[in-house]
Amino acid sequence: MKIYNYGKQSITEDDIAEVIQVLRSPFLTTGPKIQEFEAALCDYTGAKYCVAVSSATAGLHIASLACGLQPGDEAITTPITFLSSANCISYTGASVKFADIDPLTANIAPDEIEKKLSRKTKAIIPVHFAGQSCDMERISSVARRYNLKVIEDCAHAIGSTYKDTRVGSCRYSDMSVFSFHPVKTITTGEGGAVMTNNEELYKKLLALRSHGMHKEGDMLNDWRYEMRELGFNYRLTDIQAALGLSQLRKLDIFKKRRRYIVDYYNKNLGISHLGEMAYSDACFHLYPILVEDRQEFYHRARNVGLNLQVHYIPVHLQPYYKGQGYNIGDFPNAEKYYQHCISLPLYPDLTDEDLLEIVRRIKAIL
Ligand SMILES: *Cc1c(COP(=O)(O)O)cnc(C)c1O
Repeated sequence: MKIYNYGKQSITEDDIAEVIQVLRSPFLTTGPKIQEFEAALCDYTGAKYCVAVSSATAGLHIASLACGLQPGDEAITTPITFLSSANCISYTGASVKFADIDPLTANIAPDEIEKKLSRKTKAIIPVHFAGQSCDMERISSVARRYNLKVIEDCAHAIGSTYKDTRVGSCRYSDMSVFSFHPVKTITTGEGGAVMTNNEELYKKLLALRSHGMHKEGDMLNDWRYEMRELGFNYRLTDIQAALGLSQLRKLDIFKKRRRYIVDYYNKNLGISHLGEMAYSDACFHLYPILVEDRQEFYHRARNVGLNLQVHYIPVHLQPYYKGQGYNIGDFPNAEKYYQHCISLPLYPDLTDEDLLEIVRRIKAIL
């Protein structure tokens, strides 16, 4: 029996050839492929600046620091996300506040954000869940009114559009962060990128990516460098950037196939799923369905060769965040969503025969 996981990277010989070329070149890291990849991401999204980093988690961390988040501050994110969207706030010493989701999209609800604002709130970190953009016009209007920074967690959403902008363009935010983990839409093995239109933030991000080192003015043609703040080694390699460039060239094909699969499931399964808003043209990363008895469905699916996953255990219910005073009942929409959600296989390499087979197996276990 063929086993299907919920996600899988799509690597072909052209990707492999690009990586091998770098291995034969003088630069394995911090070379021309990084600059090329950053320029290609700017070109694709329409953002002005890009800083390629070793993961989206690293990117969210330095974006949070670049915003000036520090102990005593608060930042707001969604409970229905991967840990990183909240942890990046905790890394800075600031406190994580959650705002409940809109059940239709499972994205953070702008009204709920407003309810969680306090004098300490400094930033909002919306997550474009499953690839569908949040309502960025409304979120950015809240941010403008209360003078907050916005960092978009775009880990699911490369290739998606919101109104007439590509997700990651930073048209409605200060910074946007992509992930290139193998389960995401395009991959570099591990990797990420921070996009911004703000030159000052860009310079901060560059320094934070590499130990807080600065080389400017007289120092440029010199051995000297200055460490002005505490930074990290969050660099991506040229080996990874070459893979990313090759993958990015196929993004539009990936998107077409992902949307085809989502349509196919919508038409052929008749199971409750997320809705897509009129402002969204998503490059879907996940296809979560909502089932009555999720635990039972999960085990039955495994028995018929479908290794599905739950996205996500609400972050406020993780022991670490419960330790900060959160508990069951705090975010009813997120918790209800979590009780029923399970993600079906969604990746470009699924053939029409695979889809027929997956739908047949799901109908058999419903
Ligand atoms: C995967 C993911 C991340 C973290 O990405 P890494 O590149 O693995 O660090 C952050 N946020 C969301 C929503 C994710 O799905």
